[in-house]
Amino acid sequence: MKLLIKGGHVVDPANRRDGRTDILIDRGKIVDVHASILADGAKTIDASGKLVTPGFVDLHTHLREPGREDKETIETGARAALRGGFTTVCAMPNTTPAIDQRGTVDLVHREAERLGLVTVKVVGAITRGRAGNELTDFAELFDAGCVALSDDGSAVANGFLMRRALEYAKLFGRPLIQHAEEPTLFANGVMNEGLVSTTLGLRGIPGESESVMVARDIALAELTGGWVHVAHLSSAKSVEMIRQAKRRDVRVTAEVTPHHLALTEEAIGEFDTRAKVNPPLRAEEDRQALIEGLRDGTIDCIATDHAPHTDWEKEADFDSAPFGISGLETALGVCAHTLIAPKLLTWPQLIERLAVNPARIAGIEAGTLNIGAWADVAIIDPNATWTVEPKHFSSKGRHTPFAGRQLPAAVVTALHHGAEAGR
Ligand SMILES: [Zn+2]
Repeated sequence: MKLLIKGGHVVDPANRRDGRTDILIDRGKIVDVHASILADGAKTIDASGKLVTPGFVDLHTHLREPGREDKETIETGARAALRGGFTTVCAMPNTTPAIDQRGTVDLVHREAERLGLVTVKVVGAITRGRAGNELTDFAELFDAGCVALSDDGSAVANGFLMRRALEYAKLFGRPLIQHAEEPTLFANGVMNEGLVSTTLGLRGIPGESESVMVARDIALAELTGGWVHVAHLSSAKSVEMIRQAKRRDVRVTAEVTPHHLALTEEAIGEFDTRAKVNPPLRAEEDRQALIEGLRDGTIDCIATDHAPHTDWEKEADFDSAPFGISGLETALGVCAHTLIAPKLLTWPQLIERLAVNPARIAGIEAGTLNIGAWADVAIIDPNATWTVEPKHFSSKGRHTPFAGRQLPAAVVTALHHGAEAGR
């Protein structure tokens, strides 16, 4: 069955398209992209007044399956992704058991394929059980289809092991995604170290717990020629070091989350666990540096770090509540509010950071509306305003510091391989 997306404003930065264009889809693939297409018998989606963009690609999603299906399943996570405009998600390996061998990678792929809702790529673990002691079998994991490796949730603290891991991953041309956090400086902190943590009497995590690890990894990437991708950047110092490293052609890429772009430590207010994330929300000068890094290309892409938790865990006291918020369904609205409305980025620039660049880092064919590509498409109403109502989330994780906020730009629908999922 043919599907025609008619009259929309197509934003496809990979093909330098930014204007009114029709898109014809047949058997799940894009077969024609033209100013005006007539297709007899095709089902038509009227996209007038809407933006038509490639489906977004999230490099950093916690689907929680296997092991914590009470927090999220591949199915609920995939449905949340679609509602947020994401047609590809990269599943992080800090599940139970950790995704550290082929069998577990296959399990995630099989379930995602059975569902057919979004494309799920897997990020395998760097060390066995993510314990930081012994490298996994990189050849086995990449052969099973992993797009990158990471011990996310914690850093690879052992510098010698990280050096070997970078040398090993280099053979496959794939990145290691580092959760940049020096564990002894992290020191069981619960929020950014500064005036607010002092006032609230909460244990602080200094920005240096991140930037020290970023500095080490840049040095190791330089030494080995391997590729480090820094996850969820939070501090101004990290941004500046990556900027300098890129000038020296060090193989380093980086991502930032919508919540680190939009919020500061002030969002914690009166011990609000919905603003407890790791790395923590930091100071306004950090937030400004992250935005500038995203603008000038130091930070390559936006990733959600979607980290759903159960109510009973997240509604505990601030010290014992887990880090992480549900991010897939609010990502576009938060980015539109933080970046598009104040004219810090244009729509093509935002789509580049939500779709084109993450697909490039993952090494996958996605993030474009090329003729012949799978029809992974997001349709966005740029003029809509909507209220974040977590009780209506598709994700099982209902915790977000944006609850009740009015945001611009609603995802009207997303197509994965040409199939529509209503919002
Ligand atoms: Zn992390």
